Amino acid sequence: RAVMDVDRARNWWEGFAREVEERSEELTELDRISGDGDFGTNLRSAVRKARARLEAGQPRTVGEVFTAVSLGFLDTGGTSGPLFGMFFREFAKACEGLPVVGSDVLARGALEGVRTVQRLGGAQVGDKTAVDAMAPAAEALQRAVDAGAEVTAAMGAAYRAAADGARSTTAMRARRGRASYVGEVARGVVDPGALAVAWFYERGATAA
Ligand code: ADP
Ligand code: MG
Ligand code: MG
Repeated sequence: RAVMDVDRARNWWEGFAREVEERSEELTELDRISGDGDFGTNLRSAVRKARARLEAGQPRTVGEVFTAVSLGFLDTGGTSGPLFGMFFREFAKACEGLPVVGSDVLARGALEGVRTVQRLGGAQVGDKTAVDAMAPAAEALQRAVDAGAEVTAAMGAAYRAAADGARSTTAMRARRGRASYVGEVARGVVDPGALAVAWFYERGATAA
């Protein structure tokens, strides 16, 4: 489809939330090796808080969906809660006041989102964090928009770039976050935050 409306945004979001709930053990296991073993729990808690806000607030626009999601994350602890909360907040800002959004608006949200995460967390591409998926996804999304892609195709490009970016973290030694404390131990393990970002874009590409 050419645009994203509130129903599609909710389906996107709910698809991601379900994947997080089903695979939170996997995320926790990765974080057990490279961090403190709470990422799956943190993320699951965030998506449940987001869902509660969506059910209570009954959003009428895509922007309101992202605002509810953002607040759910900002309510959650860990490093990921506030960083992902601020990431989704940029999507909400980009979509603000629009009844439906096109791929250009999503690209702006994605670019501002990763910019904000980098400003707050200081991570660069190559530091083995969620930024390794967020940055290439945002760039791929913008390139797709420049080439005239509508939402589904643009999100597909974002997903492929996010998945490649997440995969690339496996070979990295972390320079940010807790994984940086364990040095070589985390090499060979995919960054769970980057993996979750890939799931987020995958659901954006498949949600109808
Ligand atoms: P904590 O380390 O506080 O327990 P979480 O387990 O909730 O945090 O989240 C860990 C994830 O957060 C990592 O997998 C990584 O993707 C992400 N992360 C950590 N530090 C940063 C940072 N500076 N910038 C972007 N993402 C980060
Ligand atoms: Mg952790
Ligand atoms: Mg922790």
